[in-house]
Amino acid sequence: MTLRARVTAAFLTVVLGPVLVGAYFVGSAVTTIDRSRSADRLAVAATAVQTAVDTLCQQLRAAAEVVALAADRAVAAGQVVDRGLAAAVRVTDVGGQVLHATTPLPAAPWRDCAARTPAPASPGALAVRVDLRDATGVARGAVTAAQPVDPAFVARLAVLTGAAVTLLDGSGMGSPRQHTTESAGGREAVLGAVGGLDGEQVVGTADGRYVRRVGPSAGQPLSLVLSVPSDRPPSLYAALVAAVLLAVLLAVVVAGRLARVTSRPLVELAGAVDRVARGDLTARVPVRGRDEIGRLAGAFNRMARETGTYVAALTSSRDQLRGHLEVLGDTLASTHDLQRILRVILHSAIAATGARAGAVLIVDSAGLLVAQATEGLEVPAGGPGPIQVPLGDLVGAVTVSGEARRGRVEPSVAPPGEPPCRTYIAVPFAAPRDGGAVRADGPSPRAGGPPDGAAPATFGVLVLYDRLGGEEFDDDDLGTLRTFAGHAAVAVDNVRVHEETQRLSLTDPLTGLWNYRYLRQSLRREVERATRFGRMLSVLALDLDRFKHVNDTHGHAAGDRVLIEFARRICGEIREVDLAFRLGGEEFVVLLPETDAVGAAIVAERLGAAVRDTPVAVGGFAAPVLVSVTVSIGIAVHPDHGGTGQEVLNAADEALYAAKASGRDTCRVAGAAKAAASVLPVPAGSDERPSRADARREAPAHPGAGNRSETELAPGSGAGTPHGPTSGPHPPRQSRGR
Ligand code: GH3
Ligand code: MG
Ligand code: MG
Repeated sequence: MTLRARVTAAFLTVVLGPVLVGAYFVGSAVTTIDRSRSADRLAVAATAVQTAVDTLCQQLRAAAEVVALAADRAVAAGQVVDRGLAAAVRVTDVGGQVLHATTPLPAAPWRDCAARTPAPASPGALAVRVDLRDATGVARGAVTAAQPVDPAFVARLAVLTGAAVTLLDGSGMGSPRQHTTESAGGREAVLGAVGGLDGEQVVGTADGRYVRRVGPSAGQPLSLVLSVPSDRPPSLYAALVAAVLLAVLLAVVVAGRLARVTSRPLVELAGAVDRVARGDLTARVPVRGRDEIGRLAGAFNRMARETGTYVAALTSSRDQLRGHLEVLGDTLASTHDLQRILRVILHSAIAATGARAGAVLIVDSAGLLVAQATEGLEVPAGGPGPIQVPLGDLVGAVTVSGEARRGRVEPSVAPPGEPPCRTYIAVPFAAPRDGGAVRADGPSPRAGGPPDGAAPATFGVLVLYDRLGGEEFDDDDLGTLRTFAGHAAVAVDNVRVHEETQRLSLTDPLTGLWNYRYLRQSLRREVERATRFGRMLSVLALDLDRFKHVNDTHGHAAGDRVLIEFARRICGEIREVDLAFRLGGEEFVVLLPETDAVGAAIVAERLGAAVRDTPVAVGGFAAPVLVSVTVSIGIAVHPDHGGTGQEVLNAADEALYAAKASGRDTCRVAGAAKAAASVLPVPAGSDERPSRADARREAPAHPGAGNRSETELAPGSGAGTPHGPTSGPHPPRQSRGR
């Protein structure tokens, strides 16, 4: 059963119930009152009949008495009839013989006024009989005065009583001589209703009349039936039925309207809920009032609107997540670009937590946290350059303890050096390493590290500042960021491992200088740069003099110590942008960007002096042995002495050869002619350069000339991706600057 049907049924029950009950009581009350009033009227009519008949009987008695007392009874009887005291008078003797009678006589039987029992047949007249006596009191006969009981008599009674009168025969039922004032149709109904009546009982007839019997009684010997019409309006019941029908009609109409008005918002609401259930969050319902249903509709609209907002936010978040995943995928594909990975890690962390700004800081060799990637941060108060945070303070403490932190910072007590913020969250970057402690001199060495499962070593911090919206970062953010940083740290550590491996592949393990493989890359890059910008590039080829003698005299270990010290002195004499290489043995190369022959000669002289002036101490600390060494240097300049890197290098080598030839411990500048005739033999594909002495032995005039084409220095043939002076893997600091 629908709500609409239930509302309609309830309304009809509530409204029509009282209407029907009221109509029933009105009908019953009217009927009862009508019956009561009719009974009263019939009682009055019965009294009137009693009085009238009694009066008539007394009148007949008086008439009979007059005739009986008269001397001439015939004359007296005539006068009595003439005067209307009786309709007829009959005088009889004691034997019943009629002595005199007026004419006409009413039809028999005559009903005596003193009779109490019902008449056996319908009476023809009312009569009073008076005995005739003589003076001695002896009965001589009787005088009877009569009044006919005919339709006129009954009509007079009806007029007198105001009721319809019917004279019954002895059986009480109608007969051919019955007299009545009832209408033809009403007669049967009255006679039908009066059958079981007794005494003063009143009954109603089918045609709306009330009936009662009267007599016979003392002074009234006739059996009569009185009837009066009902007083109630004839259309009462019809009016009641019409009123009920009208009420039913109105109730149905109002109930239908009420049910529709009540159920329509709910139907609309159900439809809207269905649409929402199918995914249509634009569904709304009209708010038609401020009642409960109106408030429900308003609440539904708000719920749908909020849900739509949440779904839009979730969709946006999902799209952002996809974008981040794509970026993350691209980044993971380029696992060698540390800066890019750090930027993506930072951006993803900021997007995931809704932070205003953030930074990824890595512990450098000086024990400072140095920002490698920042977002949303202003230039630090200390001036340009990356943000540097000392270990142990707010964010720095995370590095020391290895524990993630979050909190609020009062501007007045913000640690110096750290970016100003109101709230922060910081998680460590840690990878399985030996010990787990932060080394002040930089990341722990990987070689010889502990097996997997060792305590993680914290090498950096991911820190986010000021959650948007003003709220503090919560524990969920902390958990999410800690997990994210754990994965990110692995990626970062992998890149660092890769960079370390790459650095080791490009450096000389004894001296820490770049090796010959990196010389080829650097030479190509610096020649390209110098060519593009029209600058000079000088190349120094260095070879320790009579180094074999050092080995032979002091031993190979002492020779190694001399080589290490020589490399250190080279780095001490060149600029930050200059590059120093060990090619092998006791042969070295220095690249001097943006330096001409004059400047290169100055550097060469200074290097020669640095080696010559201070002997190298070898042997134990207790008994050191001073070894005096010198160096010969050849100088060539791009583009004066060669258009390609190899040509310039060959020219420098040739100049070195000239310096050796001129007595050693000196330097020479390559001649103006290209040094194509002095190409050193370098095995193709080999990273180790053979010693120049060996080369000379193999090709004393033009060692290796033409053996090594320029294409061996072409891009892609070297150790890998070209690197600028400030990018890519770097060996430990080679130059202390000047
Ligand atoms: P010159 O003045 O003509 O250059 O004479 P030299 O002895 O320096 O030249 P030569 O090339 O004949 O000797 C180079 C020597 O360097 C040979 C080898 O014993 C030594 N040497 C090469 N590599 C190393 C090294 O890694 N460690 C040590 N201790 N000695 C090396
Ligand atoms: Mg030498
Ligand atoms: Mg040599």
